[in-house]
Amino acid sequence: MIQSEGGRGGPGPAGAERPSPHPRPAATAHPSPRLRPAGGPAAPGNDRPQPVPASAADPVRPAAGHAPPSAGRPASFQEMWRDLRPLGRNADSGGYRRYAWTGADTDCRAWFEEQAAARGLAYEVDRNGNQWAWLGDPTAGDAVVTGSHLDSVPDGGAFDGPLGVVSSFAALDVLRARGATFAKPLALVNFGDEEGARFGLACVGSRLTAGQLTAEQAHRLTDGDGITLPRAMEAAGHDPDAIGADPERLSRIGAFVELHVEQGRALDLSGDRVGIASAIWPHGRWRFDFRGEANHAGTTRLVDRRDPMLSYAETVLAARREAELAGAVATFGKISVEPNGVNAIPSLVRGWLDSRAEDQAALDTVVGGIERAARAYATAHGIDLDVVRESFTPVVEFDHALRDELARILGKDTDLTVPVLGTGAGHDAGILSGHIPTAMLFVRNPTGVSHSPAEFAAEDDCVAGVHALADVLEGLACT
Ligand SMILES: [Zn+2]
Repeated sequence: MIQSEGGRGGPGPAGAERPSPHPRPAATAHPSPRLRPAGGPAAPGNDRPQPVPASAADPVRPAAGHAPPSAGRPASFQEMWRDLRPLGRNADSGGYRRYAWTGADTDCRAWFEEQAAARGLAYEVDRNGNQWAWLGDPTAGDAVVTGSHLDSVPDGGAFDGPLGVVSSFAALDVLRARGATFAKPLALVNFGDEEGARFGLACVGSRLTAGQLTAEQAHRLTDGDGITLPRAMEAAGHDPDAIGADPERLSRIGAFVELHVEQGRALDLSGDRVGIASAIWPHGRWRFDFRGEANHAGTTRLVDRRDPMLSYAETVLAARREAELAGAVATFGKISVEPNGVNAIPSLVRGWLDSRAEDQAALDTVVGGIERAARAYATAHGIDLDVVRESFTPVVEFDHALRDELARILGKDTDLTVPVLGTGAGHDAGILSGHIPTAMLFVRNPTGVSHSPAEFAAEDDCVAGVHALADVLEGLACT
């Protein structure tokens, strides 16, 4: 909420911030079975008894965080933002650097545990480090789950992720204030390492849980300082030997709804505060290694050079052209250069391409076109080129029945049609959608700016999002 410091105001008072007049007791803690149900889906590399993490000996336990500033009642929506605002914020850029398993991440996770404790929810950390806060019996099945993530991209904004987590707690407070009666278990979740800022792969927490990333693959992930994911997890107090697919956990969930700030301007253009996601575009990351020959920048004649920077630069321009032709997006946003000296012709330019399109055919066309162009430029300059696909997520069509149910719930009092929109951004909801019915709510972003300190959502829109989420949870989980 850094923008609120400029006088625009943060998410503010609403029904969301009123404490429940009738706080409910903490859910009964039942250790969940750790074994995969007979005949359940087997995860690759996960067919042996799993080491039990420290948190799994009693995986559902009352939250034990120290009392939040608002001890005695749950923090209001505004108070939650206030408490989160300084965590991991860089004073120079004004952006957030909440990378997985760092101190800033630990602070955010402690905040989540405190919020769970303040509401009497049963708190647990799953084998992959995702945090859960339960109302009702976690083992009863058909749970309704909501939440998002608290980590950030480098110098990210305040809303991408945290808006969904804060809104989850606030929506629960709204429902309690309404005196809602829950017929199903409700869980609030903070998925770990969603942005992939540190280890280069997005949605690690949900991918592991869903079995889309094996423990062996995760163990090989390394950050820019050469620290492996297991070492980083261990340093933050999580057992890396415990990670892996968690079909038992997924089998508890009947529906997952993630609220997220929109990362685009569709709602601003349509004049709506809140929308429903239709699909997530297929997207991926590709690494382009251009290898030439290091040499002296002052003494090497132009005709004698094998300069990989030239092919790289031409490829960046080709990416823009191909994306425009296909109505897609393509971005080289990260680059590393060797030897990286001002007076040296590079020996290696390594650029990472992020590309997304509405459908698979368009994405194939764009990436194929960029690679063909890159190879032609490399050949012209005597450069060797390797292209490696580092990650890929196919198109995600959210569950149509759940999407229609959300539209019915949100439109029933107003007869308004709730806008349904696609997005080019990946989310934990997209990962989970292949396993459980999943839906997303978007809150208007007036500038469309995201992954930047300038990311913003207006107070009224955030509050509208909380109430929309509360309505959805009530419709799905309450009698
Ligand atoms: Zn996000």
